[in-house]
Amino acid sequence: MKISFPYMESPVVYYKIFELLGHDVVKPPRPTQKTFSLGVKYAPEFACFPLKVTLGNMIELEEMGVDKIITSGGYGPCRAGYYGPVQQKILDDIGIDIDIVVFEQVRGDWKDFLENVRLLKKNTNIFNLIRSVYIGYRLAHSMDRILKLLHKRRAHAYDKRAMSELWDEIQNKFLEVESVRDVSRVEKWARQQIENQKKAIPAEQDKLKVGVVGEIYVVMEGSTNNFIEELLNEMGVEVERSHYLSEYIDSHMIPWKKKEYEHILEKGERYLKHVIGGHAKRSIGHIIDYKQRGFDGVVHLKPFGCLPEVVSQSMMDSISEDLDIPILSLSIDEQTAKAHMKTRLEAFMDLIKQKKEEEIA
Ligand code: SF4
Repeated sequence: MKISFPYMESPVVYYKIFELLGHDVVKPPRPTQKTFSLGVKYAPEFACFPLKVTLGNMIELEEMGVDKIITSGGYGPCRAGYYGPVQQKILDDIGIDIDIVVFEQVRGDWKDFLENVRLLKKNTNIFNLIRSVYIGYRLAHSMDRILKLLHKRRAHAYDKRAMSELWDEIQNKFLEVESVRDVSRVEKWARQQIENQKKAIPAEQDKLKVGVVGEIYVVMEGSTNNFIEELLNEMGVEVERSHYLSEYIDSHMIPWKKKEYEHILEKGERYLKHVIGGHAKRSIGHIIDYKQRGFDGVVHLKPFGCLPEVVSQSMMDSISEDLDIPILSLSIDEQTAKAHMKTRLEAFMDLIKQKKEEEIA
């Protein structure tokens, strides 16, 4: 039985966990225009864009011989919790023979969760299950530390393309790890490689820093947002995102780590009293956090059909005015062209540079 999962940013962590557990795992292809077209063709027109992309990805995986797809669920006033059942129904209707297994957070009902764990565990013992998941957890944290460093250093590198190629090489090295010690060794090596690249780092006050907030899938998955971090880095801008896999795991699955992330939601409270689903409140909390940490601007990404981010988008003008921080809100769908996005970002950065110069003068 071949298993896989929908592509979201780097497939290394999930791939490694399944491989260590002895599964015949297939690495999902990175979404392309073909993936978007497949999703758009078979999903309802009003469905949110991430549902369409992951659906297209699932159809591609069936073409690669995959029988089972492991994916995550969701809860709250948002459509994320319906992705699994809706996608399963669509796949059944169009004759795609594939099973979707949804890993939900445990919220009282342990039966489904334990059944999924049994599937994940395969024939291995509980010790190997814990070990494999722990290696995946450490991998997620190590890779995110490196990614954050890359999003800063690439902005000042002389050869930015070499830095992007280096990230591909780093992911391949992480893919080879077999233990926690290997993870630490590769992280140390990767850090060294990034620092060795020739670059000119400006003084702290001269750096341009932009935060990227919004719905998790379009913030994390570069193929949907035209690789926004690369585009901004090419303009000499340091980037930080509101979502990283390791932070998602800690804030949603590790009870004693959740507290570390609550301050972001508390900051969002000023504009949004309730959690309205998705990451709307978190997006607002992050904007306030970026302002307090001296960022120069924020890009807000809203997928087509995403109601929570439509609500947060409606507040962006007043938040921008109150906090005195430029915010660019971009809607993301299958027609979002790279040239258009680049032009919008360039105009936004011109505005930020002008504002910064006026503040210094
Ligand atoms: S957050 Fe938005 S895009 Fe994501 S599942 Fe919910 S409604 Fe859809």
